[in-house]
Amino acid sequence: MTSFKHENVEDLYELLEKLGSGHFGEVKKCKEKSTGTYYAGKFIKTRKCKGSRLGLDRDQVEREVFILQQLEHPNIMRLHDVFASKAEMVLILELIRGGELFDFIAEKEALSEEDAIEFLEQILKGVAYMHTRSIAHFDLKPENIMLLQKDVPHPKIKIIDFGLAQKIEDGTVFKSLCGTPQYIAPEVINYEPLGPPTDMWSIGVITYILLSGLSPFQGETDQETLTNVVAGSYEFDDRIFKQTSELAKDFIRQLLLKDPRDRMTAVECLIHPWIKPLNRKQAVNRSRSSINMKNFKKFNARRKWKLSYNMVSACNRLCRMKLLCNPMKDEEELFYSGDLLRPTSPLTERSNKTRRQCESDQEDEKTKPVTLLRRRLSSCS
Ligand code: ATP
Repeated sequence: MTSFKHENVEDLYELLEKLGSGHFGEVKKCKEKSTGTYYAGKFIKTRKCKGSRLGLDRDQVEREVFILQQLEHPNIMRLHDVFASKAEMVLILELIRGGELFDFIAEKEALSEEDAIEFLEQILKGVAYMHTRSIAHFDLKPENIMLLQKDVPHPKIKIIDFGLAQKIEDGTVFKSLCGTPQYIAPEVINYEPLGPPTDMWSIGVITYILLSGLSPFQGETDQETLTNVVAGSYEFDDRIFKQTSELAKDFIRQLLLKDPRDRMTAVECLIHPWIKPLNRKQAVNRSRSSINMKNFKKFNARRKWKLSYNMVSACNRLCRMKLLCNPMKDEEELFYSGDLLRPTSPLTERSNKTRRQCESDQEDEKTKPVTLLRRRLSSCS
């Protein structure tokens, strides 16, 4: 098991170009000096003191490390090493070179359901593996589903970002407000107990989008999206889903169920006839049905634009803050994001609840979902 090293990461690793950035720091390519092997170093700023709103609590990062240490699966990003200093923690992770799955798909001219299933099956295997270890990811979304390499005949899926993941111990109740409105399950919004079925809802949403290029619950505002999620109101528009097989729709229907207990588990998904056809007819149907590529490309372009927009507007807010908040310490200025300035909800004061942020899909400040949900700035790659 990886233990925290206290020496300087640069003594052991050569730091190279930036690969991406998240809410609490950057991810950089790095080379282990002793072996010449390349990794991704996730640099996370940690809070100086309990009261500070900047950076992550050390125990939150320790939880991410603790979880990654328990996961060893071909479809889950591996943790190689971990460093801790006073101001930051560095996770040395398996280097994932192939970019996001959705970007890879969006470059294609056409994709059959059968091809899409090749990816979905790998996501399900990774998720089934973590769920059997009582670990739930709680942030499954396109940005966190990557490809190890893309220029190979059968690219391998890697699930990343275990920053919100939790080990749900037997007999314990975990509640939280976390995630991204488009992908979160009704029980998150209703502040009810969460668990592996919460991830299965997100997989239902991801599959719906993958097949249609439409987000099932997306409203004009976050508020509307969350209302749609809670109502569980979505439909399969015939014009959009005309190339979609009935089995694919059945697969989604069995995931987007309001009661978490009714949803298929990841193991059940893996034996659903859409994923594992029972006969030749079902198999042929999958290869004849295709994803709505025109819509999917549009969805992905909009998604990327929103991620960039969020990043730019966060930078702008940061600049404004620099002008307004001169007394702030340098370090605080660097890691202050406007997203974190929202008032904390009354709910976040409740006991038995971890304070979390909620990332918004909306680019407009005035479209705050509900005051009780706070944003998490997403990465922009
Ligand atoms: P968020 O604010 O979205 O929760 P985060 O701070 O938890 O982000 P990650 O999502 O883990 O950070 O990483 C940010 C970005 O860095 C990713 O979207 C991805 O582009 C890149 N990245 C993360 N891990 C790796 C990796 N192992 N290999 C290559 N790139 C990576």
